[in-house]
Amino acid sequence: MNLIIGSHVSYKNSTQLLGSVEQAISYNSNAFMFYTGAPQNTNRSSIDDNLTSEAYKLMRENNINLENVIVHAPYIVNLANTSNFDFSVSFLIEEVKRCHKLGVKYLVLHPGSAVNSPKKEAINLIAKGLNLILNNNYDVTILLETMAGKGREVGSSFEELRDIISLVKNKDKIGVCLDTCHLNDAGYSIEKIDDILNEFDEMIGIDKIKCVHVNDSKNDLGSHKDRHENIGFGTIGFSNLLRVIYHQKLEKVPKILETPYVTKDDNSKERLYPPYKHEIEMIRNKEFNEKLISNIRESN
Ligand code: FE
Ligand code: FE
Ligand code: ZN
Repeated sequence: MNLIIGSHVSYKNSTQLLGSVEQAISYNSNAFMFYTGAPQNTNRSSIDDNLTSEAYKLMRENNINLENVIVHAPYIVNLANTSNFDFSVSFLIEEVKRCHKLGVKYLVLHPGSAVNSPKKEAINLIAKGLNLILNNNYDVTILLETMAGKGREVGSSFEELRDIISLVKNKDKIGVCLDTCHLNDAGYSIEKIDDILNEFDEMIGIDKIKCVHVNDSKNDLGSHKDRHENIGFGTIGFSNLLRVIYHQKLEKVPKILETPYVTKDDNSKERLYPPYKHEIEMIRNKEFNEKLISNIRESN
């Protein structure tokens, strides 16, 4: 099976897509995801087409297909918040344009958090926002991410995602990004991935899945926490994650790691070393390496 795998990578204004591609290649990835700026703010700079075409060249040389490149919208954008709805919509309209300019087809979005309204109203508001954002001719699809259900998060059940999607007019431009940590924390046991995919297929349609975030979880099934863990070191476990990664029905879908950077030592809190090269190697080998964390520390 042809594995499409990569990780979250950085995007710096000085190197833009080219820098992101270089980083992805250094992890032996053939897919990657990035924020077009800082994830926690909405300051964005303009795109340099020269850097983009250099990035394309490097991608061709390394067999990275643009279909497997994903942008993640900043997590402070919240379509379910009535008090800054207009700002979120206009930011996301610009974000879609940036994706289009970069040639990126998929934009992952956290559906929203119902901070000041009942869930049902939040769902209506999210759909209203999506209809305003998707009213364009760009070939950019928004992927609603499955959420852990922390606080008032919308989208921690397939029912909620179905309800949002049912209200979206431009069905061709809406899809879903599964996140294994979030699914676990929302109460979907990854061990039963076949059942999960069947349920998803009946409710939404399996062809709507365009990206999978592969993360282990620090917390138990149904904890509604959302804390990612390195592959094989959490409550989901290596073999269950492998079954998702190598699932036949997800073969054409890019798998993106968003696992935490590794600290210098067990007592340190500062996360310094990206784990992705080592995790991807372990996934390709299909064998759990219990020394992964110490190997990462040693290689830095
Ligand atoms: Fe996310
Ligand atoms: Fe995620
Ligand atoms: Zn998460």
